[in-house]
Amino acid sequence: MYPPISSAAEEAFRRCIRCGMCLPSCPTYVDTQAEVHSPRGRIQLFGALERGELEVSPLIAESFAYCLGCYACQTACPAGVPYRHILEEARDRIEKRYPNRLKRLLLRGLFPYPGRLRALARLLYWIDRSGLRRWAVRTGLLRSLAPGLARLEPQMPSLSRRFSRRLIEIRETPSGPSRGRVGFLLGCVMDVAFAETNRASVDLLRRAGFSVWTPERQTCCGALHGHNGDRQTAQRLARRTIEAFSAEPIQAVITNAAGCGAFMKHYAELLSDDPRWAERAREFQSRVRDLSQWLLECDFSGPFRPLPVRATYHDACHHVHAQGIAHQPRALLGRIPDLQLLPLEEATWCCGSAGIYSALRPEDAERFLERKLAHIRRSGAQWVITGNPGCILQLRYGIRRAGLAVEVYHYADVLRWALVP
Ligand code: SF4
Ligand code: SF4
Repeated sequence: MYPPISSAAEEAFRRCIRCGMCLPSCPTYVDTQAEVHSPRGRIQLFGALERGELEVSPLIAESFAYCLGCYACQTACPAGVPYRHILEEARDRIEKRYPNRLKRLLLRGLFPYPGRLRALARLLYWIDRSGLRRWAVRTGLLRSLAPGLARLEPQMPSLSRRFSRRLIEIRETPSGPSRGRVGFLLGCVMDVAFAETNRASVDLLRRAGFSVWTPERQTCCGALHGHNGDRQTAQRLARRTIEAFSAEPIQAVITNAAGCGAFMKHYAELLSDDPRWAERAREFQSRVRDLSQWLLECDFSGPFRPLPVRATYHDACHHVHAQGIAHQPRALLGRIPDLQLLPLEEATWCCGSAGIYSALRPEDAERFLERKLAHIRRSGAQWVITGNPGCILQLRYGIRRAGLAVEVYHYADVLRWALVP
């Protein structure tokens, strides 16, 4: 038995006027020219499910599994259809009918447990550094023992030697006159694969005049779960995140991961059916800020030293389409003397990373990545700058494989490097 449709999803369905203006901006529609793989088609399928005219079928499951969850359709929609509600609820239903074992293992067995994630990251780091990984690939051992893992191996990130907790104190003070106090979310992937970027983010906040508190008991924010049809776990993790950041007074909850920010900004809807948490969720959500958003709101301007590099900016979907963040990181980067920001064609088009999409559907993710790489090649940039861990990993993987002389960085790292000591 499925839970009743939420008022948010019902509203999203009701608002769609079937105009089709979202179609040209939908990567899966452009890829296939099939209505079933378009936002309009998916919204209609969801409606038919709700009216009981259709049962969850392999075709419906495939349609929603193929969707990147990039929300480019939301940006394009003149009627303001919040498609994300449809996607999240459809996936929740589909997952109950056709459970995906890999997805379940990642979402329920790994991400909610920071200890397990760190233990796995430590093991992978050791396997990588010892040369075991290269050896297992070269000899074909990995392919014969675990073909599924062999397929994912090239995308495996290089992990940080030390995780965020070793680099960041629980409470840090501003490096100049104080302007207040903020909380900082370490994130799951950011913690184990981009600990240095987390350090850079805290440095920027301190230089902007803020005390930074990174609560000890913080956990995964639930974004991957919410986007992938595990609403119940997402709700549990949202409650834990709110609780973790409630223990001390702060002005804002800062994240440097677009996916986490986009999700935490919707906690109110996620917990709207829970009378004990709805109000707390609304209050929490109102304080969530992307790092770039916060720094620009505070008019942070360094000072920065010159960085003579030709760079371009790739918009993470969960920045530009889910939060409307596009101007903020560019404006901050624009304050670095000599950093040339070149235009990137289709900068707001998904790179194929899409949370765990590239692990679940590597062939499809490859096609979207190829399209992005072609534009990066043409841009003439030496650096690609972006604001989401998934995009960085996906772009680095594609660029390495294509042999391009291009580096990919988080905007927080670039801003930090440019800071005058
Ligand atoms: S989602 Fe928006 S743009 Fe797409 S068909 Fe519906 S109303 Fe039109
Ligand atoms: S989220 Fe992205 S892939 Fe999915 S329907 Fe919307 S535009 Fe298409």
